[in-house]
Amino acid sequence: MKFTPEIYKIPDVPMQSFIDIDEIWDYINNTASTPERVQEVIAKSLGKNRLNLEEVAVLINAGDEESINAIKEGARELKQRIYGNRIVLFAPLYVGNKCSNNCTYCGFKASNKEAVRKTLTHEELIQEIEALEDIGQKRLILVYGEHAQYSPEFIAETVRVAYSVKKGNGEIRRVNINAAPLDIEGFRTVKEAGIGTFQVFQETYHREAYKTYHLRGKKADYDYRLTSLDRAQEAGLDDVGIGALFGLYDWRFEVMGLVRHTNHLEACYNVGPHTISFPRIKDASMLNMGTKYFVSDEDFTRLVAILRLAVPYTGMILTAREPQHLRDELIQFGVSQIDGGTKIELGSYHEKEANKDLKKGQFRINDDRPLNQIIDELLDQNMLPSFCTSCYRAGRTGEHFMEFSVPGFIKRFCTPNAILTLAEYLEDYAPEHTAKKGWKVIENNMAEVDEKMKEKLRERLEQVKKGVRDLYF
Ligand code: SAM
Ligand code: SF4
Repeated sequence: MKFTPEIYKIPDVPMQSFIDIDEIWDYINNTASTPERVQEVIAKSLGKNRLNLEEVAVLINAGDEESINAIKEGARELKQRIYGNRIVLFAPLYVGNKCSNNCTYCGFKASNKEAVRKTLTHEELIQEIEALEDIGQKRLILVYGEHAQYSPEFIAETVRVAYSVKKGNGEIRRVNINAAPLDIEGFRTVKEAGIGTFQVFQETYHREAYKTYHLRGKKADYDYRLTSLDRAQEAGLDDVGIGALFGLYDWRFEVMGLVRHTNHLEACYNVGPHTISFPRIKDASMLNMGTKYFVSDEDFTRLVAILRLAVPYTGMILTAREPQHLRDELIQFGVSQIDGGTKIELGSYHEKEANKDLKKGQFRINDDRPLNQIIDELLDQNMLPSFCTSCYRAGRTGEHFMEFSVPGFIKRFCTPNAILTLAEYLEDYAPEHTAKKGWKVIENNMAEVDEKMKEKLRERLEQVKKGVRDLYF
């Protein structure tokens, strides 16, 4: 996929800062938005084109109800056209919460003496992964504080452990990472361990605001963080995830920042981010910060729809930070990945006692439904919960561009693989009522499979029923 370069005030140079605060505000403050212009921009997005900053500002500035509804409907249509009924499931696994930074918003900040500090031992890591495999998880994101102990070698070792643990029919087939930014050599080290996506959230793209939340530690360096995924690219790690923590600064600015980051990566490396995350600040131990920029549910829904339209090719992640009713709604607007059965207190997947102590987690989650309940409820909506990891393992790198730009790709690969991984789940982990429902949903979704693939898929489904695992196209 070739991207059309755009010219902004700060030119796109690899490993150099690219955010011009005045330019972004200029777009927000001086872009007119009429219902007609909003329709034009939505049409451009439905034509599978990423939007530029001026066009995103048109959507952000849409004030009338009709335009806001049109944006949501546009996002809904784009999601249906490009991503179909699939929704990818994963689980976060917190490996260590020691941290030398002091991010105002985070329960793991160094100054929080209330926080119970812990790094999983080798044995505990294995127990956690076994517990995750026992409920059917196949995709993880490993999460770490920023601490000298969590070196690239340490991270790589935890990734190798995750891949090595096999319990029953369980195995982890994709490990993503959310950790502090690394240098080029460090990114190389974790890439070699076979990671999927490396996520680094900029938190806020506004340099001055950033300073106020990150007074000490390595994270105080705005530019080092902003260019971290450039270093990943330089290391050959082209599968990266960006994000902003909503509530630190004006949401409109952050949406523009995420799009500017996207076009920077496209311009320098001809590859956009694999995923975009948009966490909102949640309650945390010793959280003490102003609420001026906190984002209402209404604005949040709107900004998710805008992001969907702005970057049609990118996966969008919505975590259990958000409550069920919002997650259900936002899946319809183009969220493509959610976590399920989430527990964020260190060691809590394998510990018998429920552990929801704020002092032990990074923040409070708002959707603690078990994985099977989430799957069951997705099936009620005829959605296809998917544990697919096929592209990345079949060497089809840049898969999100293929889903997006190769005609028929979803019907040939994504839907059949979603069906195969769901079938495995139904056979190995689902209670009877979910299994029954699941097989019906698989049948319903057969219509979405390429005609030439259907017969092969049916054969493979028979094999899954006979106990063969890890079949994919
Ligand atoms: N320590 C690494 C770092 O800061 O990049 C790893 C990421 S941190 C464990 C994961 C993300 O959680 C942060 O990047 C931040 O966006 C988010 N986060 C921190 N505190 C939060 C809170 N109170 N509510 C919601 N999200 C929060
Ligand atoms: Fe540490 Fe990350 Fe929390 Fe900041 S967000 S205090 S770096 S764990």
